[in-house]
Amino acid sequence: MVPPGCSLVMVMAAVTGSLAVTPAVSELIELTYTYNVNAPTSPKLRQFKQELVMKGRNKQRQWVELYNICLSEHSGTHIDAPRHFNETGWTVEAIPTDRLWRLPAVVVDVSKMIGKSQEKNYEVTPKDLTDWEAEHGVIPDGALVFVRTGWGKMVNNYWSYAGLDENNKLNFPGLGKEAAEWLVHHGQNNSHSTGIVGVGIDTLSLDNGHSVRMPAHITLFAANIYGIENVANLDKLPAVGSHVTVMPMRIGKGSGAPARIIAEIGEGPMSLAPALRPFLPALLLPLFPVLRAPWGV
Ligand SMILES: [Zn+2]
Repeated sequence: MVPPGCSLVMVMAAVTGSLAVTPAVSELIELTYTYNVNAPTSPKLRQFKQELVMKGRNKQRQWVELYNICLSEHSGTHIDAPRHFNETGWTVEAIPTDRLWRLPAVVVDVSKMIGKSQEKNYEVTPKDLTDWEAEHGVIPDGALVFVRTGWGKMVNNYWSYAGLDENNKLNFPGLGKEAAEWLVHHGQNNSHSTGIVGVGIDTLSLDNGHSVRMPAHITLFAANIYGIENVANLDKLPAVGSHVTVMPMRIGKGSGAPARIIAEIGEGPMSLAPALRPFLPALLLPLFPVLRAPWGV
């Protein structure tokens, strides 16, 4: 009998008599808030509603329980399909599945920077991203980039999470236009063949609370890079080394959809290529005249 908690790999090692097999230990992290009346949702949108249809025993004395639900495409933890701000962008059901399944994920933690700046509507800058790469390495091909603002800590107090002020205006951090442009061009800015596939954030919106023109949404979606809003538990993810699966409800022609998001930690490499790597040939260039001199070419 398999003892509780014993992995299949460990069992196989016992069966084959090999102790050299290293079990693949992976931990799953839930990145989704529960869908209920407390699911964080923009005050401008329809709030989640669950209506009882039946709860009790039917004529056959069997237990039956079911509800109708009513919600916005953009309530709680959800995906923003590129179509949301791009007339020709992918709708939810058109996003290719390989852009949703087991993506290498990185977490750009700007919470300290926001704390230092004391700016509730802080805009993440390209420097925040290049500083992150200098410390952790180059964001990999096909990555899902999470921006951790620290706002998730306030999710149980909606007024604080939405940053509602005396004028009923929203206040929370977001991605600046230049940072969104930097992410769109990331694949071309380095030795990578492809760019990133999505950007997630632990606030109500990719753009900050004051934003009217939504430049981060528009810039990312123009490149068919999707967004994820109200991401939970980003403080439990490492900066590098997780793989994330995004499972939006497959709403036809949807501009967005509630999404279950799960991270796996411990699968794959925990480090990235150093950020300086693409510049090494440039550093060697000044040596060329010296090397060529003896042959007089
Ligand atoms: Zn949305």
